Amino acid sequence: MNIIYFFTGILIFLFFIQFAITSVREKKTRAIIVSLSSAILVAMIWFSCYILAPSNSPLLVIPIGVVVILLALYLLPYGKPQAIKTNPADERVDERDIMFAREEYEPGSKKYDVYYKMRPENKKIDDKIRKLPAILEPGGRYYDPALADYIIRLFDFNESMIAMVDGDVNPKKEDINPSAMTKQIKQMTLDLGADEVGVAGLNPAWVYSHAGRGPKEWGSPIENNHNYAIAFTLEMDYGHVEKSPYLTITEETARQYMHGALISIKLADYIRSLGYPARAHIAGSNYQIMLPPVAYDAGLGELGRHGYLISPKYGSRVRLGAVTTDLPLIADKPIAFGVQDFCEKCKKCAVNCPSNAIPYGDRTTVRGIEKWQLDMEACLMAWRALGSDCGLCMKSCPFSHPPAFVHDIVRLGIKNSPLARKISVWGDDLFYGKKAKY
Ligand code: SF4
Ligand code: SF4
Repeated sequence: MNIIYFFTGILIFLFFIQFAITSVREKKTRAIIVSLSSAILVAMIWFSCYILAPSNSPLLVIPIGVVVILLALYLLPYGKPQAIKTNPADERVDERDIMFAREEYEPGSKKYDVYYKMRPENKKIDDKIRKLPAILEPGGRYYDPALADYIIRLFDFNESMIAMVDGDVNPKKEDINPSAMTKQIKQMTLDLGADEVGVAGLNPAWVYSHAGRGPKEWGSPIENNHNYAIAFTLEMDYGHVEKSPYLTITEETARQYMHGALISIKLADYIRSLGYPARAHIAGSNYQIMLPPVAYDAGLGELGRHGYLISPKYGSRVRLGAVTTDLPLIADKPIAFGVQDFCEKCKKCAVNCPSNAIPYGDRTTVRGIEKWQLDMEACLMAWRALGSDCGLCMKSCPFSHPPAFVHDIVRLGIKNSPLARKISVWGDDLFYGKKAKY
């Protein structure tokens, strides 16, 4: 009995030491202090009992039993995690209504007159937003001329690739085995540099109804009847995200968008060479589809309270890319790994949002999908005031910790157990604090 008790204590102690080492790597001072204090506390209590208890005392079974039961409740699967309820409406989103389109309508221009005649309710708030300095232009709190110039060039590079997103389809169509082709396309996407990949049947509800940005005529209908979307994630560098809301977050966003553009353009080009239409959807002014719900359908993650996709491995620190196509493929299914339940309790992104854009309350049904609805206008106002794309919700999200043994254990618990979700919300606040530092 003494030996089992002794080794149980050693394992708990080593877990906290491992936590401290991980926290040193991640430069998380509070987590280093809490994990080292926990290791010392466990060692003192556990080994005092060991010394005080008579040799091989049956009483030692009690603490061992408590630890085993708690571990089982934390890690073993019970209770299915709730999935996002979707029943998408037929109504599609007009790209002219998204904030990145609306902020481009200059007073006195034809677009301005036409749009606000169509949507007078948006005029007041949009005029207010336009009065704030634009991102990457002087005036924002974290404006940095050298870095801003570099980021503008990254975005310009993306825009310069727009001509390559679509092209001629080889008139000779290859015979395709959908299962083998799905495997091949996924491997190619990963080889090109994506971190995770999935296939979704393309739901027409996620295709914009009218063009609001980019080379296509403003207001013209978007025709994209492709059957599938190949969606992928790109991990955003942890160090860059940690510096949010400084401009480095925007630098990392632009860098990953550029990678995403290269991957999707090459992939679409290959598919067209097989005789099937394919179009890359790249950042800037080129999307025809809404990426987060498409990536959700492709089984790449769940939508969090902050509106981003949360991937099982990289959490909120991902950017998305996609190719739509008629190449025969096998679609993946959406996944649920505890995010909905966790987000209900957590609310850390809402606490850290400088513009109160993230709701504290319950999910609402928006166009048939049950989710937390972000206040896009408030978010963009914060971006413009900060002069960067903020990223505080991404940085503060407990799912954003980089892959590491201790974080992977917590993620496994969150996926498997309702108790783990409760404890982990509290644990994240204890180890990392409720408010992100910047
Ligand atoms: S990016 Fe910033 S302002 Fe926008 S929702 Fe996230 S925390 Fe709020
Ligand atoms: S910070 Fe918390 S509530 Fe917000 S998305 Fe992440 S897990 Fe969900």
